[in-house]
Amino acid sequence: MKSAFLTEPKHIEIREIEQPVPKAYEVLVKIAYCGICTLEQRLYDGQRKIFYPIVPGHEASAVVVFVGSEVITDVKVGDHVVLDLVNRCHACPACLSGFSNLCENRYKKGQRVLGAFSEYMAVRPEQLQVVPDDLPLDQASFAEPLSCCIRSLRRIEVSLGDTVLVSGAGTMGLLHVKAALAIGARVIVSDIVHARLEDARRIGADAVVDASDTNTFTAEVKRLTRNRGVEACIVTTPSLTAAETAFSVLATGGRLNIYTSYSDKPVLPIDMNTIHRNEFVVTGTEGRSESDFYTAVRALANRKILVDDLISSVYPFEKIAEAVEAALAGKLYRVLVKMGD
Ligand SMILES: [Zn+2]
Ligand SMILES: [Zn+2]
Repeated sequence: MKSAFLTEPKHIEIREIEQPVPKAYEVLVKIAYCGICTLEQRLYDGQRKIFYPIVPGHEASAVVVFVGSEVITDVKVGDHVVLDLVNRCHACPACLSGFSNLCENRYKKGQRVLGAFSEYMAVRPEQLQVVPDDLPLDQASFAEPLSCCIRSLRRIEVSLGDTVLVSGAGTMGLLHVKAALAIGARVIVSDIVHARLEDARRIGADAVVDASDTNTFTAEVKRLTRNRGVEACIVTTPSLTAAETAFSVLATGGRLNIYTSYSDKPVLPIDMNTIHRNEFVVTGTEGRSESDFYTAVRALANRKILVDDLISSVYPFEKIAEAVEAALAGKLYRVLVKMGD
């Protein structure tokens, strides 16, 4: 079978390797679609390293082709599935305290890390969820990114009645918008690119605000919230101004999630007293737990969140390097790689 190996920054090589032989407690799946996430982009351009060579890809939908004899779940050959490709050891302090997304053993060498830019994968049954056949497999590949948004919204307790600011209207920003709207929150979106704000409005954002000028931005969010500010804010863009201005529009007791990662190591751009006196809650989120993933799968399967409009382009597997370059250019929403025929 074919697998795409990142051998060094900016170098992806499709190699012919042995098809994995599933162990008795594993399931063999044929990958259908895999999305290109920020993680893959950062691995590709060298900002982030796990180890080389590595087969990237973690936003995958697939079809089951073989079920090992010791698998005790109901999964069967032909099932459409989505994959949760993180290693969770279920034994470390992080796993045991509800942070399996941060499992201390998740990236250890010798384990299979990521890996979905391959024609086939052998996975443990707890690494997959069956989805209905009528959910298109390209849309199903959004289970992983959506689950990260669900974790993000849960960490800052977004609920009915809240006004939420989603800062940054890229793919993850807009996916946050869809999830927050589904929960019943009122959503304001900010960005400095007009076309993206128009897209945010088109997918249902209650209001959009141009963040190019910080004073106008703050005044406009205050106006939209009758001077109270927003109860919660998710920062999805690594612009430092975005984080700084987010604090200027948080309501008393407001919750802020730093969803984005940063390629450098910026410090919090805010006076500590502002956090102290307003009882702001500041957190970050990375990845998703099993429960976040399960919630995302059900929301997609029940068609409570539709993601077809976030697929910008689909590349065949042979053109994976081009696909990653296109995603890196930053103008598109999700770029998918179609793995099979
Ligand atoms: Zn992802
Ligand atoms: Zn663990």
